[in-house]
Amino acid sequence: MGEGREATGGGGAAAASASDLLEALVDAGHLIPTGTPGLYGRGAAFDALLDRLEALFDRLTADDRAERLRFPPAIGRALFERSGYLDSFPHLAGTVHAFDGDERGHRELLAALRAGRDWTGRQAPTGLVLTPAACYPVYPIFAARGPLPATGGIADVASWCFRHEPSTEPTRLQLFRMREQVRLGRPEQVLDFRQRWIERARQLVDMLDLPARLELAHDPFFGRGGQIMAASQRDQRLKFELVVPIADPQRPTACMSFNYHQDHFARSFGIRDFEGAPAHTACVGFGVERLAMALLRHHGLDPTCWPARIRAALEGASP
Ligand code: ATP
Ligand code: ZN
Ligand code: MG
Repeated sequence: MGEGREATGGGGAAAASASDLLEALVDAGHLIPTGTPGLYGRGAAFDALLDRLEALFDRLTADDRAERLRFPPAIGRALFERSGYLDSFPHLAGTVHAFDGDERGHRELLAALRAGRDWTGRQAPTGLVLTPAACYPVYPIFAARGPLPATGGIADVASWCFRHEPSTEPTRLQLFRMREQVRLGRPEQVLDFRQRWIERARQLVDMLDLPARLELAHDPFFGRGGQIMAASQRDQRLKFELVVPIADPQRPTACMSFNYHQDHFARSFGIRDFEGAPAHTACVGFGVERLAMALLRHHGLDPTCWPARIRAALEGASP
């Protein structure tokens, strides 16, 4: 990792641009267009690959004894408001609305629909927000349990996530699967977790033979104030990404991220360490579809033809 191996490996899907890669993934039956950018159905082989990547994550993390938690792909409005997401990423959030009118309202809704006018004004907020990152539901749960034990806490989460960033770039989806581990505890425990994960990621890209690089990164904070937040995040080295060239050889795509939140979430949600001080948290996550597309891009569109070593890594056999 980080050695800058040639990005356009042998056997890979020959994609010179994002639209070439999208076309190749669609032609191979991996992605099924729905007519909405960033929203795709998944063919059987692609879906199986996503599951294999999650199973590989299970094997890599088996010794961590992380608490496995699963949630539906929405969070309550109160949790969302507390997370601070609206301060940083108002442009990416999606809320769930539903019809809450009476029969007259229904008639008006149908009249608008049939006249080709906007009918969504008849929808009211439900109090549900689409989950923007798999780790969000974890924080209030740990807060409610009282102070963390001296060993801190570690959770394993997975979720469909929504981000309003419609794009024809196949790696930039509006709804995608994210798998994460979240660490809660003292700053040194949390930073040690992140460091061990950076080393583990090297092992992962080695097993999968991907030309990956670790980069200092920042989140896409909104607006002019966001530039200051991004600079501060970089200065403090809070976010790293594992990037792999996928759709654009010049602009590699983040497949994993390693995020140190300091005490941001702990203060928002009231998570205390064993001495009663605000805990620190970190999360490490990967975009399951992005890692799958990286493999298809570099090893070819038919996973049954991949080198035996990579297939063995994905199937759980010893190499
Ligand atoms: P990017 O810089 O590409 O927008 P990000 O910084 O927003 O990525 P994170 O917020 O760290 O990404 O999300 C964790 C992981 O989820 C990323 O490493 C990536 O693999 C995946 N991911 C993020 N956004 C998308 C997306 N729009 N489509 C598919 N996967 C995504
Ligand atoms: Zn997270
Ligand atoms: Mg993003």
